[in-house]
Amino acid sequence: MNSKKEILGLAIFGGEKTFSTVKSTSNLVQPNREKFYDYIENSYQKHQFTNNGPCVQLLENRLATIYDVEECVTFCNGLWAIVLALKVLALEGKTEIIMPSLTYRRMGDIAAWLNLTPRFCDVSKSTLAITRKEIEKCITDETAIILAPHPIVHLCNCEDIANFALEANIPVLFDSVEAAYATVNKQSIGGFGNAECFSMHASKFINGFEGGFLTTNDNNLATTLRNIRDFNSNSIDSINAFGMNAKLNEIHAAMTLANIDDIPDQIIRNKLLYRTYQNGLKQSGFNLVCYSEEETRTYKNILVQITAEWPFTREETISLMHMENMLVRPYYSPPLHQKSTTYKTIFENLSLTEQLSKEYLLLPSGDHVSIQDVEKICEFIHFIKNNSEQIVVGIRK
Ligand SMILES: *Cc1c(COP(=O)(O)O)cnc(C)c1O
Repeated sequence: MNSKKEILGLAIFGGEKTFSTVKSTSNLVQPNREKFYDYIENSYQKHQFTNNGPCVQLLENRLATIYDVEECVTFCNGLWAIVLALKVLALEGKTEIIMPSLTYRRMGDIAAWLNLTPRFCDVSKSTLAITRKEIEKCITDETAIILAPHPIVHLCNCEDIANFALEANIPVLFDSVEAAYATVNKQSIGGFGNAECFSMHASKFINGFEGGFLTTNDNNLATTLRNIRDFNSNSIDSINAFGMNAKLNEIHAAMTLANIDDIPDQIIRNKLLYRTYQNGLKQSGFNLVCYSEEETRTYKNILVQITAEWPFTREETISLMHMENMLVRPYYSPPLHQKSTTYKTIFENLSLTEQLSKEYLLLPSGDHVSIQDVEKICEFIHFIKNNSEQIVVGIRK
């Protein structure tokens, strides 16, 4: 590992990279191997690899307990969990789905899979979250459903949004991928609105290689989704005979179970990295977006707001850091309404979203990043800030 002493040592000017391997923003958490093998042994013994096997059943029970809900339904990934849940929940005959524009890059496509038109709403400046007020502005006679994702670091006010949806008689699905394991008023999320969806992609908090799940207290919804994810082959009700293959298999469930055992330790490790960033980024020109200290949080992501003191544009910052193998990422940028799509979208003035989409950056974090790595990253940030005048001359010519 190389730390910078002079400007010509920067990788952008041909110097050695700070890191020889990439430091990304993906979690890539690896559980204890033996635990993983122990779980999968169970499926092996039973000669069952998929179709609601022992690991999937155990996993659904454990997740229902963790999230304090009646039902957990697993899927092959988070995206299909969301698509299928929306398919079942959306009001029939209505055409619009409300979602923020500042969110996960495939959210608009999810709507398009369902022939729903996304109506993009704005977010709160302080939390980057969808709010009741912004949702209310987007309600029309055509509203079929609200898709409310929790942003990164902060949570949306899911209590408020769920209450509003109930009053308005419109279903709401929470995308809780980035809020995994979080609490609201010391109570676990998982039971808000009609349902909540989560991902077990390797980059997310609970790594199952791939996978997704839904939590709900609606038993009918859970039963319907269990049928749909398995071809709906057992359904005798012909109205209900819509189906696909979106099941989770045993090996992914085993990996997820092993990672669930590791959650308390993972949070401790994540928090140490977060604290190191918190110290290292003081007076850096980057404002760390801070987690609530009163509630349970996973500290998985490191999000910073670029302040007026920071001497580079965000794009210059990304180039400088990518050259060093620090794979920083802009936060949900571009926002969805500014992407060209093959399907129709609806939105009004989203100038706040547009402004916010330029201000934030995710810094490297996860299981492959060490405390020493974070110290190097913070040192690098201070180094380029302190030498910005000369660096700017070099990169803007
Ligand atoms: C990753 C992600 C998804 C999709 O999950 P996959 O398991 O990768 O399909 C959905 N929503 C958000 C907010 C995500 O970050």
